[in-house]
Amino acid sequence: MKRIIYIPFDHLNRNYGALKDSDPKNDIIAIVESARMTTGRAWHPARLHFLISSARHFGESLKGEGFIVEYFKAPTTIDGLTDIQKKHGNLPIVCAEPSSFTQYQALQDFGVTFVANDFFLTPRPLFKQWAENQKNFLMENFYRAQRLRLNILVENDKPVGGAWNFDKENRLPPPKSHVWPTYLEHSHDEIDIQVGKELNYSPTSTWATTRLGALAQLQNFITNHFAEFGPYEDAMTTDNWALHHSLLSPYLNNGLLHPEEVIEAALEAFEAGGIPLESCEGFIRQIIGWREYVNGMYWFLGQDYRTNNQLAANRNLLPLFTDPNKTSMNCMRQTITDIQNRAWVHHIPRLMLLSNLALITGVNPQEFLNWMREVFIDAAEWVMVPNVIGMGVHADGGEMMTKPYAAGGAYISRMSNYCKGCKYNPKLRTGETACPFTTLYWDFLDRHSETFSSNHRMGQQIFGLKRLSDLPELKERARYVLKGLDKGEI
Ligand SMILES: Cc1cc2nc3c(=O)[nH]c(=O)nc-3n(C[C@H](O)[C@H](O)[C@H](O)COP(=O)(O)OP(=O)(O)OC[C@H]3O[C@@H](n4cnc5c(N)ncnc54)[C@H](O)[C@@H]3O)c2cc1C
Ligand code: SF4
Repeated sequence: MKRIIYIPFDHLNRNYGALKDSDPKNDIIAIVESARMTTGRAWHPARLHFLISSARHFGESLKGEGFIVEYFKAPTTIDGLTDIQKKHGNLPIVCAEPSSFTQYQALQDFGVTFVANDFFLTPRPLFKQWAENQKNFLMENFYRAQRLRLNILVENDKPVGGAWNFDKENRLPPPKSHVWPTYLEHSHDEIDIQVGKELNYSPTSTWATTRLGALAQLQNFITNHFAEFGPYEDAMTTDNWALHHSLLSPYLNNGLLHPEEVIEAALEAFEAGGIPLESCEGFIRQIIGWREYVNGMYWFLGQDYRTNNQLAANRNLLPLFTDPNKTSMNCMRQTITDIQNRAWVHHIPRLMLLSNLALITGVNPQEFLNWMREVFIDAAEWVMVPNVIGMGVHADGGEMMTKPYAAGGAYISRMSNYCKGCKYNPKLRTGETACPFTTLYWDFLDRHSETFSSNHRMGQQIFGLKRLSDLPELKERARYVLKGLDKGEI
């Protein structure tokens, strides 16, 4: 034997990373389930189950190929690797570049050799080169460059259909009396059941833990959801928790799927006909645009970026985030319950409900980030940090996004059916039944009006604020609402 190949829980792919050129005759596989990972924080059990069971299945599949697989439980990853190395005569350890600064440093210090991380479509140096040449980091500019570089939906350097982006055609509210396809259910085998026992958790049928299951999820998306992905991408409804979203992020993030094969499947279906361009473009943008951009920005912005708190937000995490019974806000109660049930909600509840509420109430960004990291099935440092600190709560002072994603109840009312079942009224900003989002949206603008007055993209909002005739009354209501939220009584 010549090497130990260390496989982190998010590198579960035979064809990429350090396994790409591996050989059972020369390489021993090391997988470490560290106590720090499993018990270190209040992780959602669905998330732990998914990660651990996927890794154990993956280890078994490598054994099936003839590899020696050492799956060790240890206090830390480094402890586990030390034990495996001791057992195998101090062979050198190889790994694909890890996905977070902390793990990169720890493995480097331990003497692990890295091969390039090819779990993304954009090598880290290439993104750096792009970012260094930008005045601001508009995702749309990166996305257009990606379309050209990867030659996707492009003809003669022009976008297919005459536009780069069909968001205007998308963004529809939830449809009424829509027949949604049934959810794809994944069954459990002995490994899933064993991991469930160890975690004292009964897994739901929502998430697969094998490559075959991940491929079935991809096929299910292409067949049943892709055509209508675009129009309802931003909608939220109590009728269906997934709408036409793909539910692919966990598998893309732990390696069971690679973005290249997801794009290939999407383009093949589009070329075969029956998929509207706005749905195809919208989905492609998520994969080659947003996902790659967020990963690139994580590495480009550096390790300290996660500590940003430029709006000086220092409120403790609101009780409703951990207990949906601590609020009467229907949108929040439903969303937190959904998260508790399956560790997932789509991008609009993450942005326009969870992050928006944290932003306008002034919850401390790091407290909010930590909570988001713990409760989502697809959460990882590289993806949560830019999405939360930059996009969600504008804690970087606009380094990543030019304006904060703050919104009142009118947006939520337009894009969902939550408000119909709520004791609050999205149109009201003052009075007992005023929607907390609406009241706190104006209060937030007022608290930060000086900061935002020099931001020309906020001009309209600041102009609207200045025209409010009931600002003193609104400020009083905002104080009451904030106190109530702190106590879990709103
Ligand atoms: C505040 C906030 C936090 C988020 N945290 C995470 C996270 O921890 N992990 C995560 O994978 N995604 C995160 N996202 C992005 C997005 O919400 C999820 O990728 C998506 O909801 C996953 O469901 P899906 O696979 O059905 O996605 P779809 O809507 O079907 O989109 C397809 C794919 O596009 C990619 N994608 C789209 N937007 C983003 C984005 N902003 N960043 C990265 N990838 C993106 C994902 O891989 C996703 O699977 C976050 C977004 C916000 C606003
Ligand atoms: S009225 Fe306000 S709090 Fe109630 S569901 Fe609508 S947006 Fe949410």
